[in-house]
Amino acid sequence: MEKRVAVLPGDGIGPEVIESAVKVLEVIGRRFEHTFEMNYGAIGGTAIDTCNNPLPEETVALCEASDAVLLGAVGGPKWDQNPSALRPEKGLLAIRKHFDLFANLRPVKAVPSLLHASPLKEKVAKNVDMLIVRELTGGLYFGEPSRHTEKSAVDTLVYTREEIERIVEKSFELARLRKSKVASVDKANVLESSKLWREVVEEKKKAYPDIEVEHMLVDSTAMKLITNPGAFDVIVTENMFGDILSDEASVITGSLGVLPSASIRADGFGLYEPVHGSAPEIAGLGLANPAAAILSAAMMLRYSFGMNEEAAVIEEAVNTVFEDGFFTADLVEPGKRVLSTKEWTEKVIDEI
Ligand code: ATP
Ligand code: MG
Repeated sequence: MEKRVAVLPGDGIGPEVIESAVKVLEVIGRRFEHTFEMNYGAIGGTAIDTCNNPLPEETVALCEASDAVLLGAVGGPKWDQNPSALRPEKGLLAIRKHFDLFANLRPVKAVPSLLHASPLKEKVAKNVDMLIVRELTGGLYFGEPSRHTEKSAVDTLVYTREEIERIVEKSFELARLRKSKVASVDKANVLESSKLWREVVEEKKKAYPDIEVEHMLVDSTAMKLITNPGAFDVIVTENMFGDILSDEASVITGSLGVLPSASIRADGFGLYEPVHGSAPEIAGLGLANPAAAILSAAMMLRYSFGMNEEAAVIEEAVNTVFEDGFFTADLVEPGKRVLSTKEWTEKVIDEI
């Protein structure tokens, strides 16, 4: 197969971890006889420095001409004082909206050899294997009208039936590739938008009799994520609830540096990026853990290109390298040997 990938390294440790992911893609391409044509574009602070725009038109055009986008991270203290239109994050929000990337996927899976870093007891964290599906282009974060006066401030939470339908369908389709269990999270005892959400889920599930659907309130979900996270398979929820719950879930396994994410559209086009940010204080030092970027590339193979076997090979290689006791600085236990970003990547490549 031949695929075009837009590569946007971004800021901070973005370029280092993306270099690792690109190397892994090249190796997978050779092993499975695929051609990944990779073209580079600017985004975020780096793009502000070169083009005075966090999302230059050439970058948008490059993404439009590609089958998927691989992104590092954006932002850093260098641009913190910029006016809001010139903040690196603007580029990221603009790209999500421009490409209608309505579904944000965040898998959280325990890696046994990393559980020493989990804030939960190993016994609780060890069975965790969930996928959070967050609606990304609607709800409170895109509500209009909003208003701020001296005496009050207003944000509006709007969802249309169509917006809910497509994210719920997506979650059911994704659940079929897993354990076919979906927890739909809302606040239907209080919010009208959540009542509509629940109604749509009830309608949609008729077409998916093989999927086990449970409605949960967001507050009790937040509790259960800590007390019994192993009980979840797929969680589907609206934008803000998903934002909060996915950050909560990301600490369960103890390692921000290993979590990938995808933001996808109905036709399979998607943007893939590590959950972590640009970690500017360790940029350029070879300390960054490239696992999240490498696993994001694996998600790209699975969800945009339908290359399930290829994705699994990468995921297994990453796991094996951890199981064999090789870690970057963020995960290493005192007294153990630390591998640099490049050395750790080479271990994964050898494994593949
Ligand atoms: P953002 O606002 O961009 O999401 P953040 O403030 O959430 O950024 P991150 O950049 O994600 O922060 O990083 C938080 C800390 O975690 C960093 O300062 C860094 O020490 C560590 N960290 C994050 N990602 C990695 C990684 N891939 N490898 C090693 N350490 C990391
Ligand atoms: Mg963050």
